Amino acid sequence: MKIELQRGEKLQVVGELAASIAHEIRNPLTVVKGFLQLSLERKEAGIAHIPIMLEELGRAEMIINDYLSVSRPQFEKIEAFDLGLLISNILALLDPLANKEGILIEMQLEEGLALRTDKARLQQALLNLIKNAVEATKAGGVVKVTLKPGPGEAHVTIADTGRGMTEQELNRLGTLFYSTKEKGTGLGTSVSIRIIEAMRGTISFKSKPGVGTQISIVLPLAEPNVRERLG
Ligand code: ADP
Ligand code: MG
Repeated sequence: MKIELQRGEKLQVVGELAASIAHEIRNPLTVVKGFLQLSLERKEAGIAHIPIMLEELGRAEMIINDYLSVSRPQFEKIEAFDLGLLISNILALLDPLANKEGILIEMQLEEGLALRTDKARLQQALLNLIKNAVEATKAGGVVKVTLKPGPGEAHVTIADTGRGMTEQELNRLGTLFYSTKEKGTGLGTSVSIRIIEAMRGTISFKSKPGVGTQISIVLPLAEPNVRERLG
């Protein structure tokens, strides 16, 4: 009885999400369709409009990619892995972006902390959050990621010296489609929160305008026998 209800609730959330995604994707498609119709009427290719069309299609694509990861009802591949290793791989992915913007990524990662969950989903959640930290930070700023052990838990913090958020902005964080960026989808934080909570983890945000943001994530460690096999 209880399980049925939970499943129903989940389907409802996914359905609501689908409706708002459909709405968001219609806008870029309408723009592209309009340009194509115009080109057809004028019997010219209208090459000048191609960059806008590509940008609009790219936005639709980003929304769909982010949506697929929120709506995917369950984790696909559960495996044991070293969290420190996963985080250092994510930071390597973001290094070119940080370098280009003149931002320093610092890390302090404890070795040998094993999790057992969907590694690809967790990578996506952490990548979204760390990418936001980099995007909020100006040249000369620092994004610091730490991983420390707790009792049966892994503690991850992501701290940036970026623009920070007001109380009001913090309250809107994690709301679908809330974005202050020109090309943002406003899905990254919502996706990340959902993934971490589905892993029975917790996530909290602290922020101060002009000073920076600190994200604290706690994730349950794998059972000890799994940890030993990995180490
Ligand atoms: P997007 O990155 O596409 O805008 P997100 O859901 O990832 O969407 O983030 C939503 C908004 O939250 C961002 O547009 C930004 O205003 C704010 N935000 C998220 N992370 C941070 C951060 N570390 N520092 C400041 N603002 C942030
Ligand atoms: Mg983002």
